[in-house]
Amino acid sequence: MFIGKNYPLKKITTIGLGGYCKEFICPEEDKELIEITKTNPLYIGNGSNMCFVTEFYDRTIVSLKKMKKYINIDEQYITCSGNISCTKLSRHLHDNKLPGYEFLYGIPGTIAGAVTMNAGAFKKEIMPNVYSIDLLDEKGNAYTLTQDNLSYSYRTSNINTRSIIVSIKLLRQTEDFDINLLDTLNDKRKSTQPINQLSCGCIFKNPPGDYAAGLIEKADLKGKRVGGIYISEKHSNYFINDGSGTYKDFLLLLQCVKNEIYTKFDILLEEEVILLK
Ligand SMILES: Cc1cc2nc3c(=O)[nH]c(=O)nc-3n(C[C@H](O)[C@H](O)[C@H](O)COP(=O)(O)OP(=O)(O)OC[C@H]3O[C@@H](n4cnc5c(N)ncnc54)[C@H](O)[C@@H]3O)c2cc1C
Repeated sequence: MFIGKNYPLKKITTIGLGGYCKEFICPEEDKELIEITKTNPLYIGNGSNMCFVTEFYDRTIVSLKKMKKYINIDEQYITCSGNISCTKLSRHLHDNKLPGYEFLYGIPGTIAGAVTMNAGAFKKEIMPNVYSIDLLDEKGNAYTLTQDNLSYSYRTSNINTRSIIVSIKLLRQTEDFDINLLDTLNDKRKSTQPINQLSCGCIFKNPPGDYAAGLIEKADLKGKRVGGIYISEKHSNYFINDGSGTYKDFLLLLQCVKNEIYTKFDILLEEEVILLK
């Protein structure tokens, strides 16, 4: 089991910001994980929808990245460990000619993170495809949530943040398999979103009936920079860390965008990214 004391936060999220945390733990076996659940830690997937805005995060952070990874397919379901990356899962299903999960390709998170956030792309989202989720509660007890117990809406779900998602059962889809779809969607993603840069995806949720990126562009904020954090030229709802950015730059830019959009359009943007301090 890996235990990093006073661990640098910038190493555990894709935007790479923040100071240090009390400890970062990566269990390798079930019994280690069960013990850790009793300490009320913060669970993290690939940290692609999280941003630490603090010098010191005074909690234990737990990642499943060193635990066993698997994908099993049967007649009805696709069962996978929560720590599988969305891209790997999507590619595996595509290679097995199983349709319906191409939209996950290129989302740089784990399937557990995707389920928690009800991640989506290209007019699809993950939650309607979930049959059940296996979790451990804060006492280390296993339980299962099935479709009837799950509720969700745009980029949110009712999954208890004190529980850890261990595995997920997805429904096999019946639509026709399109051999070109994965590449088509991936090309679309690459041409419209900044990939291979330090970011945490979309910063703001789209307000009802509108697009956060469109509002930011209309407000002439594309490219706006505070220190080492700037608004992407490719997609205005992405903040990029040029490598020298700090969480303070991030917070200043965030507030600036919210203020401008509110002043100009009377719309209060809500963060999609989870801010932790
Ligand atoms: C370049 C880029 C592109 C992106 N494109 C998209 C996109 O197209 N669509 C989209 O919806 N999002 C997108 N995102 C955002 C992000 O990738 C998704 O929200 C992703 O699903 C988050 O997964 P993660 O494993 O990184 O979760 P994290 O960011 O690590 O965590 C997100 C939430 O899930 C919880 N969590 C994570 N793992 C577990 C677990 N095992 N058990 C319990 N709780 C857990 C965390 O506590 C947190 O509340 C993008 C991000 C980037 C950087």
